[in-house]
Amino acid sequence: MTRHVATLVAVSALMMPAAASAQSKLTVVATTEDLASLAREVGGDHVNVEAIARGYQDPHFVEAKPSFILKLQKADLLIVVGRELEIGWLPPLIQQSRNPKVQVGANGYLDASQNVKILDIPTGQITRAMGDVHPLGNPHYWMDPENGRLIAREVADKLTQFRPGDRAYFEQRLADFNRRLTEAESRWYADMAPYKGTKVVTYHRSFPNFAERFGLEIVGYVEPRPGIPPSPAHTLDLIQEMKRLNIKLVLVEPYFDLKTPEAIGRATGAQVLVMPPSVGGVKEATDYLALFDYNIRLLVNAIKAVGGR
Ligand SMILES: [Zn+2]
Repeated sequence: MTRHVATLVAVSALMMPAAASAQSKLTVVATTEDLASLAREVGGDHVNVEAIARGYQDPHFVEAKPSFILKLQKADLLIVVGRELEIGWLPPLIQQSRNPKVQVGANGYLDASQNVKILDIPTGQITRAMGDVHPLGNPHYWMDPENGRLIAREVADKLTQFRPGDRAYFEQRLADFNRRLTEAESRWYADMAPYKGTKVVTYHRSFPNFAERFGLEIVGYVEPRPGIPPSPAHTLDLIQEMKRLNIKLVLVEPYFDLKTPEAIGRATGAQVLVMPPSVGGVKEATDYLALFDYNIRLLVNAIKAVGGR
């Protein structure tokens, strides 16, 4: 390389930051790995996406760390699950970030629950004082892939607000995601079709959207109420009900203690299945589509193994 060329390279390198900042990548922070995965699908290499909670953690109870505040300080856009899923840990982090862009109600704050199908909306008075962590309906709605499609649409619209010049890019990414999702759904529905109506028990109410979409019937929960640990009386009732209905599967999210589910399994002959409700909940669930791939395969194999239909 001649000195002349080297100088040119050095000058170009010096000019890079100014040129790059005009269209620097948007920094997106999502509270969960599921929302982060959907944001990556749509945003591609025009965004940097980070998640706060890991998929193997209970998203209701995340231990706040200083590193989360640092992430929020840098964010152009914060995507939250909403429905009070994060109310136990997110508000102080947002506040302490002092980032005006991602405060509740700001343009960089996107509540993904606003335009999706929400189940279990309480009809009576439910407050967190009663210990129920689902006071505004079930916040695990991303477990329905049709809701995933709606979230991806919302994210594309929001990214386009920030980067109108990238509209075609985001729309093309969204269309590609929708196409792959549609293909995957037809596979998942075909795999689950023979087992429609299979009755299961789950630990927490993480799966009503999933069950409705894929034809499972959830007949009970290891928790007496969402967020309330199992009690001996409730466990005994549940065992009797499972025996009466011949329930052979207990689905447990990766972050719950297996002691009570295994006792229930021994008493009823049911199989205990650790089933992740989030991307990153197990190592195979690397992104939003892989999460459903993993769970459908897990379920089909388990239902066959217990001789269910
Ligand atoms: Zn929950």
